[in-house]
Amino acid sequence: MIFLGAPGVGKGTQAEFVASRFHVPKISTGDLLREGVAKQTPLGLKAKGYMDRGDLVPDEVVIGLVQEKLSSSECSLGFLLDGFPRTVAQADKLSELLADQGLALDHVVHFVLPREEIVRRLSGRRSCSKCPAVYHIESIPPKQNGVCDQCGADLVQRSDDRPETVQSRLTVYEQQTAPLIDYYKRKDLLFELDGSGPVEAVQDRLLALLSKPRVE
Ligand code: AMP
Repeated sequence: MIFLGAPGVGKGTQAEFVASRFHVPKISTGDLLREGVAKQTPLGLKAKGYMDRGDLVPDEVVIGLVQEKLSSSECSLGFLLDGFPRTVAQADKLSELLADQGLALDHVVHFVLPREEIVRRLSGRRSCSKCPAVYHIESIPPKQNGVCDQCGADLVQRSDDRPETVQSRLTVYEQQTAPLIDYYKRKDLLFELDGSGPVEAVQDRLLALLSKPRVE
């Protein structure tokens, strides 16, 4: 399964939910890269500049990350990709990797949301500095200001969620990632999901969509 859509559409939140509900591993290239940056690994050091500018990290770097994850035994029965692929070259490479492992994609879910709402969500997003929990200052506030409900750590604004970087991330999405919508439509794998409204409403629509049998 692939979750596709602009930054801020809610893919990560719903990916967290689906992964725990269906017990499938979630592979989020953004999370893996941020982990590398925090730990100052060679990969993190290479990726940091691109991420701070809102640019995509080079294909070979993220493909290497995904390749390593997909070949692990926990992914042998299925997985959910959040934020990958983001370019046609990544999508082509993914097809090759899946074919090598005898796997096929079931769903590519395209999260749809108007640009103004995306900007509102990104600028109010706060992430936990320790665990994967994500909040929004207005629509999903933590119980205590600036503190994670799950683990008590400080909430921070991702450096790439600042307004100046948000605009370039959206432009990068439109130019480099949006072509994947047609790419997967042509392969008859694309499912459109209305990403508007509260988290629970999107969750319900997503569950309904995933329960539809795939048309062969
Ligand atoms: P995300 O958390 O998915 O919004 O990703 C945060 C940042 O990580 C992006 O703005 C990119 O700089 C980088 N990134 C994540 N996934 C990819 C990918 N598949 N290809 C290239 N860069 C990526």
